[in-house]
Amino acid sequence: MADTDVDLFVIGGGSGGVRAARIAASHGARVMIAEEYRMGGTCVIRGCVPKKLMMYASHVHEEIKDAAGFGWTIPEATFDWATLIANKDKEIARLESIYTSNVEKSGAQVVKARAVFEDPHTLRLSTGGMVKAKYVLIATGGTPNHGAAIPGIEHVISSNEVFHLKRQPRRIVIQGGGYIALEFASIFAGLGSDVTVIYRGDNVLRGFDEDVRTHVRSEMEKAGITIITGCTVEKIERRGDVVTAHLSSRSSIAADEVMFAIGRHPSVTGFGLEKAGVALNPMNGGIAVDDYSQTNVPHIYAVGDVTHRLNLTPVAIREGHAFADTVFGNRRVKVDHTDIPTAVFSLPQVGTVGLTEAEARAQFTHVDIYKTDFRPIKATMSGNPGRVLMKLVVDGATDRILGCHIVGPDAAELTQVVAIAVKLKATKADFDATMALHPTSAEELVTMRTPTARHVRQAAE
Ligand code: FAD
Ligand code: NDP
Repeated sequence: MADTDVDLFVIGGGSGGVRAARIAASHGARVMIAEEYRMGGTCVIRGCVPKKLMMYASHVHEEIKDAAGFGWTIPEATFDWATLIANKDKEIARLESIYTSNVEKSGAQVVKARAVFEDPHTLRLSTGGMVKAKYVLIATGGTPNHGAAIPGIEHVISSNEVFHLKRQPRRIVIQGGGYIALEFASIFAGLGSDVTVIYRGDNVLRGFDEDVRTHVRSEMEKAGITIITGCTVEKIERRGDVVTAHLSSRSSIAADEVMFAIGRHPSVTGFGLEKAGVALNPMNGGIAVDDYSQTNVPHIYAVGDVTHRLNLTPVAIREGHAFADTVFGNRRVKVDHTDIPTAVFSLPQVGTVGLTEAEARAQFTHVDIYKTDFRPIKATMSGNPGRVLMKLVVDGATDRILGCHIVGPDAAELTQVVAIAVKLKATKADFDATMALHPTSAEELVTMRTPTARHVRQAAE
């Protein structure tokens, strides 16, 4: 196509867009990337990174409690919310500027503007001007769901606001039973807030292994978090500083903040997708793409949360990289979306890779389960009542490890490493042949000898 200003215009400076812009520029493409809010996107500015920093703050409380058994006398500790938020903001600003300068160093041009399609090849910038592009990558991410328009919804905060609260809520009600609800319930509980989780189903973390769900819930309850299931928030009232959540169970809870963490939807509106002729996926509301992240309009691609495939940062990054290699690197690359490890940074942490027991039993005729639930060695002196869960799901016919599920300290770190073995299609015999590293919790993964359950499906008569 003649007369284009750039080879690639990227809409959105988050995980997927930034990676795509940098790699495309390294392949020699003329690239422009538009970001309307802050470079780095959800993960860096109001997701993974600030959440993890706040999680560290919340863990200190447990460390202090554990210290007494090891002989430490620590004078009563105090916590200052304003210091945590200010230091976190400083770090996020530092990362934001690194993201911008890394993109610029790659040769791509960053524009701080909202970009809107004028036609399939033309983008209008909110700062003024039009840009004509040969290819367009949509990497606009997602936004928090608010749910039904219940009375008082304007008093509810989401994960967008939670990072900037002026004061630590002494009492917080969090609706939702997924990643964000459990992570923030744990953060606030660790910081000493009184936390109530309201979840509509029968147990939190739907879609995770059943043993994980049961274990996490009971550990979070042990840590003092109230979890109310089979219930929703139907109305919110604010009187002065007190926000009251009225529940479907007819009870109500007074708090300083009510937060909803009830999923996110892909950002597909308000930037002229219809003018570009880009189709949505009717199954999930995200932009419909093929295995190469190509939309129905051949020169327009989409990656990351806006496609609503697996809404995780490393996935968006891989998709952005694969797109840039495919279109500008002369190398067609598909992202493998199987066996992606994931963690919930709750207290205790959850790490999981591969199939749950239920998924394995639905797909395989012979499934062996190896499961252990124990107090880690540190607890013998700290007195911490927390228990660790480790579970392997094995294909009894081929001995292959199909899934690994861990709940406990450092579950996310352990799962990243186990994920390599799962990706390499390791067998239970490979795990057994691996020497234990003692004394660790992780050694349980290579020392579980006898299945705790064996499920063999009989062939239909
Ligand atoms: P985003 O990072 O959302 O970037 C999209 C960008 O596009 C945004 O910056 C937005 O401002 C910009 N934009 C939108 N429309 C326009 C427009 N028209 N013009 C210009 N700019 C536009 N994932 C993990 O893997 N691990 C975690 O621990 C984790 N924790 C999370 C915690 C929270 C609280 C949240 C909300 C998410 C978390 N995630 C985590 C998910 C992760 O943040 C996302 O999967 C990831 O950021 C998706 O990247 P993306 O590039 O698709 O979109
Ligand atoms: P999740 O999909 O994880 O959880 C949403 C929760 O809200 C579920 O418990 C869901 O219930 C419930 N829910 C949905 N709709 C309603 C409703 N209308 N009323 C009441 N409850 C409702 O979404 P999150 O918002 O927690 O996080 C969004 C995504 O961001 C995650 O799915 C994940 O991809 C990503 N993320 C990843 C993190 C990580 O990697 N550590 C951390 C944070 C976010 P039900 O199960 O019954 O549908």
